[in-house]
Amino acid sequence: MPTLFLDGRWTSASAGGTREVVNPYDRSLVRTVDEGEETDAHAAVRAARRAFDHGQWRGWTARRRARLLRRVAELLQRDRAEIARLETLDTGKTLVEGGIDVDDVTGVFEYYAARAESDPGRLVDAGNPAVRSRVLYEPVGVCALIAPWNYPLLQMSWKVAPALAAGNTMVLKPSELTPLTTVKLVELVAEAGAPPGVVNLVLGSGATVGAALVDSPEVDLVSFTGGLDTGRAIMSAAARTVKKVALELGGKNPNIVFADADFEAAVDYALLAVFFHAGQVCSAGTRLVVEESVHERFVAELVARAERIRLGNGLDPDTESGPLVSAEHREKVESYVDIGVAEGARLLTGGRRPDDPALAQGFFYLPTVFDGCRSDMRVVQEETFGPILSVERFSDAESAVRIGNDTTYGLAAGVWTGDARKAEYVARGLRHGTVWINDFGPYLPQAEWGGFKRSGVGRELGRAGLAEYQEAKHIYENTAVEPQRWFAR
Ligand code: NAD
Repeated sequence: MPTLFLDGRWTSASAGGTREVVNPYDRSLVRTVDEGEETDAHAAVRAARRAFDHGQWRGWTARRRARLLRRVAELLQRDRAEIARLETLDTGKTLVEGGIDVDDVTGVFEYYAARAESDPGRLVDAGNPAVRSRVLYEPVGVCALIAPWNYPLLQMSWKVAPALAAGNTMVLKPSELTPLTTVKLVELVAEAGAPPGVVNLVLGSGATVGAALVDSPEVDLVSFTGGLDTGRAIMSAAARTVKKVALELGGKNPNIVFADADFEAAVDYALLAVFFHAGQVCSAGTRLVVEESVHERFVAELVARAERIRLGNGLDPDTESGPLVSAEHREKVESYVDIGVAEGARLLTGGRRPDDPALAQGFFYLPTVFDGCRSDMRVVQEETFGPILSVERFSDAESAVRIGNDTTYGLAAGVWTGDARKAEYVARGLRHGTVWINDFGPYLPQAEWGGFKRSGVGRELGRAGLAEYQEAKHIYENTAVEPQRWFAR
């Protein structure tokens, strides 16, 4: 079956291009997909434009759109096992993680179905009984939705659900490395009854398809999740046509542990925070910041457990962590280990590929811990996007906040303490979009997600996540107009 979706039809790439999708566990071929180019991106934008400007979609009521979203949620659950398996083959993550992703995005579609129905706009008091003043929320238009490879289904769904709820049309561009669950998602949205042209899919590289979408004068909004440098390039390219831009970029997220925290839980979550999905998580807790008095015991326990993490095939139920996504990405992660060593950080464990011959074909890397780190080190400041933990120490709550904020990113942070006042002080002081107290990692469809500082522009999820895809329109109606006689009385 062809894998581009234009104007309601599955089609091959116009120039006949294809790409092999490879399983990062063993480099085996998972599927050959179509690889589009600029012409395909332009065709998709034209289809989305027609559907927005002239199609039946604009006549759909909010309730009808909500029904569509609920149907997508049902279909995601119907095909849960198949989708989780696809995500594992594509990304290397475990089947359990893939299943969690499907459940999470089901909740996101359900949430935006409810929001679509409960957002009727608002009346504004003009201070004049003869004036009826209303604010309506209308769709922005044609949206380009560009997603990364670490959470392919999840990141794309966080965009598709609110964009549909608000009544937009769209072109989806997943990462070239991991397109399979996006193909499946588009199948489900079509099966749920989205009219032709409302959702279009173009696979292909960022430099060709992605850039063509961002450059197109027919696209009204770009919502992008990915790396900082790509985000910069997109923001600057979008300036030419003054598009709306929403950016979810990286993070370098502190996980702050006080001596009075529940020791066992804090160690457990510190591992989860950084080694979940082999550290390929924008909100990974890659900067562990521990109070001096427990530092030694904490790090010893953490390292002992990190060395027992079972790497393997994501389809194997015994596997706790899969490989990195690609050979190229593993090389980037390795280069950060070299940088850390050169900067004088103390390598406590990992720092190399595993010896197990069964893992030799995959892009595996051992969980790695650096102690003795300082905020000015590159391994502490830059996003490695791999299983690398840097450990720093602090002496009191004030220094914990200072270290936690000593980053150009601002996506997420954790704080562990048994003292509620201290937790609140730190949570308020941190300049990050999400702060977890005595936890690390969860998000809610109802709560905004996004970054302060260079972690991005705008928000996903929650009310603000819908507002990104809406234009506010003020309608001011004078019901008793009389001549003003301002001029030439
Ligand atoms: P990336 O920036 O390389 O690519 C992301 C997407 O952008 C891909 O689909 C790619 O093809 C496309 N792209 C590349 N160049 C483009 C261009 N010039 N114009 C338009 N599109 C272009 O990121 P990645 O390596 O796929 O993903 C990892 C990054 O994503 C990490 O930095 C991570 O922190 C970030 N991320 C952030 C969040 C968040 O919520 N803040 C979530 C997940 C991932």
